[in-house]
Amino acid sequence: MASGQNQNQTARPKLLEVFDLRAYFDTRRGLLRAVDGISFSVAPGQILGLAGESGCGKTTVGLSLMRLLPPGGRIAGGVIRYRGQDVLRMPLRQVRRIRWKEIAMIFQGAMNALNPVRSVREQTADAIVLHDGVPPAQAYRRVAELFELVGIPQGRASEYPHEFSGGMRQRVMIAMALACGPKVVIADEPTTALDVMVQAQILELLRDLQGRLGLSLVVISHDLAFLAELCDHILVMYAGKLVESGPVDALFRAPKHPYTQCLVSAIPRIRGPRVALRPIPGDPPDLTQPLRGCYFRDRCPAAIAECGEAEPQPRPVMAGHLAACHLYPREGP
Ligand code: SF4
Repeated sequence: MASGQNQNQTARPKLLEVFDLRAYFDTRRGLLRAVDGISFSVAPGQILGLAGESGCGKTTVGLSLMRLLPPGGRIAGGVIRYRGQDVLRMPLRQVRRIRWKEIAMIFQGAMNALNPVRSVREQTADAIVLHDGVPPAQAYRRVAELFELVGIPQGRASEYPHEFSGGMRQRVMIAMALACGPKVVIADEPTTALDVMVQAQILELLRDLQGRLGLSLVVISHDLAFLAELCDHILVMYAGKLVESGPVDALFRAPKHPYTQCLVSAIPRIRGPRVALRPIPGDPPDLTQPLRGCYFRDRCPAAIAECGEAEPQPRPVMAGHLAACHLYPREGP
């Protein structure tokens, strides 16, 4: 386990614990270390955000939690515990009992994830029949409850995905994720490709469902402003690594890691003085190549000599707040 990483959140009992997770992909260009040593935990009722640019490994973390990595991907090391059970060592049939019933996922891209030739009611019921083994009539009653919960009018339940707007399709995806009564829901880019008004509605829906059902949410997004509105705690990833982790207020008020500082300064603001947005120059590193030192150093405005030599490890910078950067002393605050 990377040093200090499990001190990143308060001492609430944990539902989900991840230690030193590594997920790699075999590619034509070599081994790609998509996730390389991530640790975190999720308490009951907590909303945890996973932030970072596209390709930083956020979705791979979500898929790893479900043991649903695509072909070519594998979990190369680490531990995932759900209610104390080691998910990575479970036989697949036991994982299938946890998947959807305990941990569910709202996949990215609602239109692609839905079956275009089945009505939204039928395919939501299919998921319930498949995972809960109940008769179709019972599944349909459950679908009616779920659709009411997520704000889909009953009169539209027999429609097909192409008849729904992007926001309504996302509601179907949320209903499907909730179909078997999970305790943890992973939402992967739940507002991507939606306009700002619909984004706000989906944000409100997720917040409402979390409160009503007591869910734990792991919300994956490149949109820091969205995460700031919704989450209790945020993990910032860069190039498959955790670079900063902290309570949402502290992380936005006083980000410690230069990468997080760049991300926060790139958020458009509608209040206060007009400030030019500053894009982050350069690109993330090629994770199939051997890398040395800090992975962010080629883009970092604060790099020092040590950054090219040693890889910084996450260390406490304040209570419940970690940063992986040589600018912070090894002994912590
Ligand atoms: Fe920048 Fe160095 Fe900190 Fe990396 S370790 S973020 S290069 S200051």
